[in-house]
Amino acid sequence: MNYKVLYRKYRPSTFNDVVGQNRTIELLKDSIINNKISHAYIFTGPRGTGKTSTAKIFAKAINCLDPVDGEPCNKCENCLNFGQSSDIYEIDAASNNGVDQVREIIDNIKLTPANFKYKVYIIDEVHMLSTSAFNALLLTLEEPPSHVVFILATTDIEDVPITVLSRCQRLDFQKISNKDIVDNMRKIAKEETIDIDDDALTEIADFADGGMRDALSILDQLSKNKVKITQEVVLDSLGLISNKEIDDLIAAIDNNNVDKVLSFIDFAQSHSTDFKTLCKKLIRAIEKAAVDIKLNNYKGTLEYATLKEMAFEISSLIYKCNVNIDPYTNLELILLGYIDKFTKNISREMKTAEKSDVQEIANSSGKSLENDVKIATKTKEAADDAQKNDSNTEKYFPKVNTELCAIRVNNCFVNANKTFLIDAKEVWEKFIKLAKMKKERALLIDTTIVLASDTNWVIKADIDATADNINDIITNIEDALESYVNQKYKLTAVSEEAWEKYMQEYKDNLAKNIKYEMKEEPKAADSKKIVEDIFLNSKIEVK
Ligand SMILES: [Zn+2]
Repeated sequence: MNYKVLYRKYRPSTFNDVVGQNRTIELLKDSIINNKISHAYIFTGPRGTGKTSTAKIFAKAINCLDPVDGEPCNKCENCLNFGQSSDIYEIDAASNNGVDQVREIIDNIKLTPANFKYKVYIIDEVHMLSTSAFNALLLTLEEPPSHVVFILATTDIEDVPITVLSRCQRLDFQKISNKDIVDNMRKIAKEETIDIDDDALTEIADFADGGMRDALSILDQLSKNKVKITQEVVLDSLGLISNKEIDDLIAAIDNNNVDKVLSFIDFAQSHSTDFKTLCKKLIRAIEKAAVDIKLNNYKGTLEYATLKEMAFEISSLIYKCNVNIDPYTNLELILLGYIDKFTKNISREMKTAEKSDVQEIANSSGKSLENDVKIATKTKEAADDAQKNDSNTEKYFPKVNTELCAIRVNNCFVNANKTFLIDAKEVWEKFIKLAKMKKERALLIDTTIVLASDTNWVIKADIDATADNINDIITNIEDALESYVNQKYKLTAVSEEAWEKYMQEYKDNLAKNIKYEMKEEPKAADSKKIVEDIFLNSKIEVK
């Protein structure tokens, strides 16, 4: 019985067998074909990505008597004797005698190879060498004999002194893609008659995080039970959470389901789920939802910017979790934070009463919800059509700091009073909850009406950018509001800062006894003309 673990048994023996490092492998093969061998290489990249295996194949190929296309022939005398050759040195810098071995190299380096063309020194985990060992190595790297090739390998390139790096040709090994890992495991499973399904393979690849060695070690372990390896078996043995559960969690955040979020964290913690893998899965699910938003495939109400922020927060947690006593609590707080963001304008009681409440509002305005939306859509279509028919009509929105915005605020001040404002505020709050389109709902959720007359309302948003985004779709909002309250209001959104200026102006005018008077709104064509006049008919195109 000579059991070999899978990753040793299936260690690549040719460049073509190395998975997922095509660019690096091409470079090495080219250097062999063109006989341009450097005297020192440094292979860097995450663990289990094939650095040491590639170093060995390279050492074999440069000594092969009959290389084919840069590959070792695996038939010649040198290839066949490669494993026993005294000209190939493998040093593990992480081991206790690493430093002694480096000293030994230096003592023997001048001696010519016993049988091979090159003496090859493969130094694994080179970043672990002590300063004195590095210094000794540096001397030999400065003027190496022509029969010597160094291959240094490291997962932590930033710990290797720059003086050493500058004397090496650097080759970067990438994390191996999940697809490549799955394909390779599937091939090996077939050969070893391991019964495993594709979902299980994907789950293992996910966990291995770009490292083939880890993936094969897990496959090895699970295959010993001699039962069919399913996704459940993998999740169970690795203490993982399924992608479906992660998707459910995102949906729970979307639906402000606090209980679900809490029980998820509780489950993950009590099952000792691997925290980093959990975070990575979460980030991947968030990323997928964000892409769905951009593709208009997303069913929920979360916004792109929110998802992006959430992903950033969780990924920063991954880096902190090693020094964090209780990363789960942090994750819980992060996730709950996103629920708060979406509920801070809607109290819990309103939420539970929402269904009947909404129905009541709908009934009181004499229409069902569906009708509301249909009418809003129709009105919008009609507006679009009108716009298409009238090619002279250009869109001119009441953007913050534009003349139109100022005129609308001014016109609102003319007839504004407290009763209008109280009514408007109440209607607005309910109207926001009814807004079916997620873009509108998310934009409006933090807004309030700060000024109202019988013809105009002023919407206050937190910052200029939000106000402008609202103003961009203000005609749609006006149409939807009209179909909701059966009255047309001219709306404009201002930022908190802009609103403070308008208030100050109002107080100043009051003190000077200056009255507000209705002003005519400029049309798109007018605004264009105004700008041209300012520039004295110079040929500046204003769009
Ligand atoms: Zn050969």
